[in-house]
Amino acid sequence: MIIVGSSEAKEAEKTRAETVKAERGNDTKIIKYTPWLVHFNTGACNGCDIEVLAALTPLYDPERFGVKLAPSIRHGDILVVTGAVTKKAGERLKRLYDQMPDPKFVIAVGACAISGGVFHNAYPVLAGADKVVPVDMYIPGCPPRPEAILDGIVKLLKKLEKK
Ligand code: SF4
Repeated sequence: MIIVGSSEAKEAEKTRAETVKAERGNDTKIIKYTPWLVHFNTGACNGCDIEVLAALTPLYDPERFGVKLAPSIRHGDILVVTGAVTKKAGERLKRLYDQMPDPKFVIAVGACAISGGVFHNAYPVLAGADKVVPVDMYIPGCPPRPEAILDGIVKLLKKLEKK
């Protein structure tokens, strides 16, 4: 039996991560057809979150593009960030990003996740998501509409086709 947090558990996790990386490598083909999203609020007012959740409902039918919510960060392909990145949330954002398997991508949704928005000068705020992790797609708006969010995801997938 492997105990959580033990050196054996850490070693097993390292081996698993290496296996996943070796199998998936930079093969973006897998993601192109079934991009699984992970949503993380780094300090949003909830406006962008509501629109992200709306974009994932059957009304907008994201599954026609294969887009679904991932059951865990370790199954995520695309990290959807909403909100200005606070200093505390920044640490968590980096940790979540590191836990995702390669290849992985990040989408910044809304003015706050892009640049910090109206909060960019606030003392607990670092600014946009790209201060902490590499961002592949920016979706402007305050908040952006669900159609714009889906459009941004599809544009990212089109970008991957060219790779
Ligand atoms: S961009 Fe607008 S709606 Fe989105 S988190 Fe910032 S203030 Fe809220």
